[in-house]
Amino acid sequence: MKYKFYGTAAAEGLPGIFCECENCNRARKLGGRNIMTRSQSAIDGVLGIDFSADTYMHVLNYGFPASDISTYIITHNHADHFYPQDFLNHAKGYSYFGEKVIDIYVAKSGYDLADEVLKDKSYVHLHLVEPFKPFTTKEGYNITPLKANHKQDPVIYLIEKDGKCVLHSNDTGYYLEETWQYFEEHKPHIDFAEFDCTMGMQNADNTQHPNHMNFPTVQNVRSRLESIGCIDENSICVINHFTHNTGMVYEDFKKLGDENGFLTSYDGFEVEF
Ligand SMILES: [Zn+2]
Ligand SMILES: [Zn+2]
Ligand SMILES: [Zn+2]
Repeated sequence: MKYKFYGTAAAEGLPGIFCECENCNRARKLGGRNIMTRSQSAIDGVLGIDFSADTYMHVLNYGFPASDISTYIITHNHADHFYPQDFLNHAKGYSYFGEKVIDIYVAKSGYDLADEVLKDKSYVHLHLVEPFKPFTTKEGYNITPLKANHKQDPVIYLIEKDGKCVLHSNDTGYYLEETWQYFEEHKPHIDFAEFDCTMGMQNADNTQHPNHMNFPTVQNVRSRLESIGCIDENSICVINHFTHNTGMVYEDFKKLGDENGFLTSYDGFEVEF
């Protein structure tokens, strides 16, 4: 399996779209991996995870394979994860690549938004996602949505194919007990996990940070997954989804990750396992 990150920042981007704070100016000055756009990933170049307002930038800068992907799983309807307006560019006259239909899997609030924006568009099939109700995509990925600890009606995803298992877990704070119960009952062996590390070292005393995780919460989540048996020494763990508010840029997150056994995401980062 190949997992590629295209956008690794939180809602405002890093640097923030309008922001002149010290951290954003440092990111601008350093450039390279310190410049992070809004959330998007892909698996094996065929399964899209989230469709943010920065999708077009990902096509231009990192070769996001928009014309190869015909299934998207969406985590929630915040615009840094789901911007359905850009699917209108799939219509005849805006793009020419046959009669391909795009499947979009999304929970209720995102479903309603997409239904309004893409009403009667035959090139899009919307599928309603509900936590703990698994489904299989046309590419053969078995997907289990789990309930996230975040605003709206968000989910995190377990994605399984060919004996490999991915945990995609942002946006979320410390996992909800219903989600822990799922892990305890099913004990999936996770080969690759990415964790919401939005808050960096902010509120470091809180290891069950709600809404978004800080790094101590990520460590706590990894430990609990280890103690259940879902994660072991062969599992690849990555921190992702960074905000400018932490006073940290990629270089700082990378140091934190390296010291504690995590890889650190950046736009264009690919992992094969
Ligand atoms: Zn987000
Ligand atoms: Zn800023
Ligand atoms: Zn969000």
